[in-house]
Amino acid sequence: MSAGMPFDAGCLLCRAERITPWLYEDDECWVAECLICSTPMIVWRPHALPAAELETAMLEVLREHAAARYGTDGYWIDAVRRRIPDHWHAHARPRGGFFGR
Ligand SMILES: [Zn+2]
Ligand SMILES: [Zn+2]
Repeated sequence: MSAGMPFDAGCLLCRAERITPWLYEDDECWVAECLICSTPMIVWRPHALPAAELETAMLEVLREHAAARYGTDGYWIDAVRRRIPDHWHAHARPRGGFFGR
C-alpha cells in the first residue's frame, strides 16, 4: 500500500480487519467472507473507485473464488455497493440467493 492512498478511518473496508476468513489478498485487493452476507466479497484497497479495466480484472479474481465455492454456474456477481458506495467492492452470491448461508 502506498502513502497517500485514499483512506477513511471510519470505513470498515479501509480498516480491513480480519474478522471473517480471508480467501485471497494481493497488493491491489483482497477477498474475504462478508461479515453481513457470508458470501465471498472482493475489496479494492483504496477508498475509491477503480478504472474499468482494473475493475474487470478484480472481478475475475472474485469469479475464481466464487466458482470454487458455488461451482462455475452457481453464483452471480453483485456489484451494487449498498452500504459503502464510495469504496469499491463486489459480492459473489449463490445463484437464486443473497446470503451465503
Ligand atoms: Zn473505505
Ligand atoms: Zn455483504
